Parts: sequence; structure tokens; C-alpha cells
Amino acid sequence: MTSLTYTPPDAGGRPGPFAIPTGLLIGHSWRDSTSGARIEIVNPSTGETLTAVADCGVAEGIAAVDAASAAAADWAATPPRKRADILFACFHAMMAEQEWLAQLISLENGKALSDARGEVAYAAEFFRWYAEEAVRITGEMGIAPGGANRILVQYQPIGVALLITPWNFPAAMATRKIAPALAAGCTCILKPAEETPLTALAVAEILRRAGVPAGVINVINASDPGPVCSAILHDTRVRKLSFTGSTEVGRILLREAADTVVSASMELGGNAPFLVLDDADLDAAIEGAMVAKMRNAGEACTAANRFYVQRGIHDRFVEKLVARMGAMAVGAGCDPATQCGAMINQASIDKIERLVADAIAKGADVRLGGATLERAGFFYPPSVIANVQPGSAILEDEVFGPVAAIIPFDDIEDAIRLANATDYGLAAYVYSADLKNALQIAERIECGMVAVNRGLVSDAAAPFGGMKQSGLGREGSHHGLTEYCEIKYIAVSW
Ligand code: ADP
Repeated sequence: MTSLTYTPPDAGGRPGPFAIPTGLLIGHSWRDSTSGARIEIVNPSTGETLTAVADCGVAEGIAAVDAASAAAADWAATPPRKRADILFACFHAMMAEQEWLAQLISLENGKALSDARGEVAYAAEFFRWYAEEAVRITGEMGIAPGGANRILVQYQPIGVALLITPWNFPAAMATRKIAPALAAGCTCILKPAEETPLTALAVAEILRRAGVPAGVINVINASDPGPVCSAILHDTRVRKLSFTGSTEVGRILLREAADTVVSASMELGGNAPFLVLDDADLDAAIEGAMVAKMRNAGEACTAANRFYVQRGIHDRFVEKLVARMGAMAVGAGCDPATQCGAMINQASIDKIERLVADAIAKGADVRLGGATLERAGFFYPPSVIANVQPGSAILEDEVFGPVAAIIPFDDIEDAIRLANATDYGLAAYVYSADLKNALQIAERIECGMVAVNRGLVSDAAAPFGGMKQSGLGREGSHHGLTEYCEIKYIAVSW
């Protein structure tokens, strides 16, 4: 198959079906790469090739910088209300295409349609949230303590931004960066993950049709992203890098950004602890665990990776979690009956197998699943491994799959110490009926985000980001907008 076309379920008033672009968006037009090279896209639910997208080289990366740079001054000067109107149009355009965008996400990522539908709504919400923020970029005015002058502070667009996104949320990770960049008045170059470029290309076409001016969003894909992104970051017209992906690649990019002192926002890996105290509402904790562990089949940097469960509730928690996870329908992402979709690729399966084998070798008990499914595509079943021993690799490295590793504890001080015994610090979950106790624990956990008595932290209106080696900066909320702003101070005498 070389092109994918989606027909919206009803044609009323909408632009109508279009072939999903597979080229590079540079300026206002889609083009092929000069080398003619293409990247094959695989359907993880079958292992079959879906289509192929243009593979860009350094020259096209710089052409994207040219386009973003040419559009920068006009976009920065576009009145905030006009930018907000365009962002609102993007929100409505994405929501109008929610169903087929969800199908496209399921097709190339393998996630269940229900997860994909949720992702499109979450992704579109960034446009609505930042449409509202675009007209609320204020400044400050103060008087110097000596009284000699006024201190005028302005927020200006930081400039051309390079946005690099991962494959696990191909729509939301892109819009979480594009929307605040555009709201702030920046133009951008999006470099999606090579596993899932189709969603980003479709979203870019939707945004283009919704009225985003030429050059404001450019999209490139690269099978070898290192040299292309390095060249872009070394072009002094580029002033911002926003990256979501592994801590390993984040470190490489921070070094690259250092050469031209580019402002870098980094959303990196996680290793989320999920604490359940004896006094927790068991059913609520199970509901939360299902979301925190099984949303996106565990392929989320916020996914619960280590369940620390207090002894008094431990056995009942394990039993109920096994029952709930064991009842999930595993299957192709696009099958509406599926609750747990495919993993992204064989490397992902290999990593899960390695971590599970290590935990078993060190003394863990497999209570559910624990072995790759023998079928076409990349499927690992919902799995529960209990009694995971200290020193097991799964406690140090995010499994990024549907595997719940459970560790009993007696003393809450031990649980807090274990929760913090990691270089990561993205998300954590705490379940307790004693809100005062839960909030005190939340304050002591070294994570950027803590969910108390709930299994989900993501919200366009909330500051998403990590401590320690989980990242720098925040996305979403007003804080996400300021990542794309430069603070300008003007000393004024009058
Ligand atoms: P994951 O392990 O989740 O695949 P990665 O960190 O490898 O995460 O990838 C996240 C994003 O970073 C993808 O878009 C990928 O293409 C990109 N990427 C990987 N290596 C580099 C690099 N050296 N320079 C720039 N981008 C990179």
C-alpha cells in the first residue's frame, strides 16, 4: 500500500477525505526527499508494512529551518486574538476527524481504539487550552527599588523551535508542543518518531487546512535523526528544542543544544511508583491501577512501573488486579473489542521479556501472563508478577508494557524510600483514605507529578514534567507556554 485515504463517516460541512500525506511538509507544500529515500511503516498488530514516508536528509532539515525562519516574523506579529482563532480552528478540525485519526493511531501504533480515541481528544485539547492562553500572555511592570526607573518585563516568542516526539502518543506529544509554540508566536519544525509518522503528517495536514499559515509548522521524518537534528540545532536561527523520548537520547540532545546554547525542554523516561496503603479503598485502587498500568498497554512514561502495596491489603490487591488484567481482551489495535493492543515492535517485546526473566530469576512469582503471545504482530499479554525482589532490573528500568511488578511493604517510610530510590522522577501514584497522610507522602516523593487516589495525571491544563533525570521544564498549563517565551526586561526612565 502506498497511500492511505480515510473517508470521514459523515461528509456534512467538512473538508472531506484526503490521502494521508507521506512527504515532508516544508513551507506550504508537501514534497518528497531529494534522495527519494523512504521509511517503511509497519502495522504492529500484524507485522505488515503499511506504507512508507519520505526520509529526509540534512539539506531538507535546513530547508525546514529556512521555511520556519521565513515565517517567524509574521507569525510573531500576528495579533494574539488571530493566533487564538487559528488554534481554536485546529481544535475543532481535529475533533471533527477524531474517529479516523483514532483509527490511524491504532493502525500505526497498535494501541486499542479506545486508547486512541482518548488520545485524540487529549491531543486536540492542547489547541483549545492554548487558544485560550494565547490572549493571556501578560507582562510585568515594577519600580526599581532605588526609584530611578521602571522595570518593564515582556514575554516574547523565543524563536524557531525544533520539536522531537516519540511513538507512544503520536498525536498528543506533537500537539502538546505545537500548540504552546504557536500560541507564544513561534514557528516550528516537528520531527515525529520514525515508527509512527503518519499521525503527525495527518495532523499537520488538518492544521494546514484549518488555517495555520505556510512555514509556521514544518514536518520532517528521518530514519537517521541524529545528523539531521544536529544540523538543525547548530543552525543559529533555531532557538528552542522541545524533546519527548528516552533519557539516553535526551542527554545526547542536551549536549547538541549546548553548542549554540539552545533553550531545551526535556520530557524523558519515568519509573513511576504506585503506593497502596492499608487504608486505601481497594476498588478505587484497582480502578486507578488499571488506568495507570494499562492505559496505552503500559506504553506511557507515566505508567505505573512499581506497585508498592502495604501488607494488610497486598493479597487482596494482587488477586483483584490479576482478575481485572486477566479479563482484558488482547488484540489488534483497530479491533473495537480490543482492550490491550500490540506493542510497538520486536525491540519492545525483547525488553519486556528481558525484564520479566530477570525478575523471575531473582525470585518473583508470575501470577498472570509472563510470556510473549505466539501470533503475528507484537503482542505481550497483561501480566502480573508479585513478590518482586530488590535488585530486579524491572524496578530500575521502565518496562513500557502491560506488566505490573508488585512489591509488598510494611512500613510507609520504607515505601517512600524505595519510591525515591531511582534516578527518574516523573509521575507517582498514592492511594490512601487518609488525605492528610497521602498529601504528606505526595510532598515527599521526588516526582514532578503525583496522583492522589486517581490513576491519571495528564491534563492540558496541568504542568506535566519530571524531576531528576526525567526531564527539564513543563508542558501543558501556562507554564508550558512560557517554555516558548523569552523574558525581555526593559529599564525605562520617564
Ligand atoms: P524511544 O526509546 O521511546 O523510541 P527515543 O528517545 O529513541 O525514544 O526516540 C524519541 C524521539 O527521538 C524519536 O523521534 C526519535 O527519532 C528521536 N531520536 C532518536 N535519536 C535521536 C538523535 N540522536 N537525535 C535526534 N533525535 C533522535
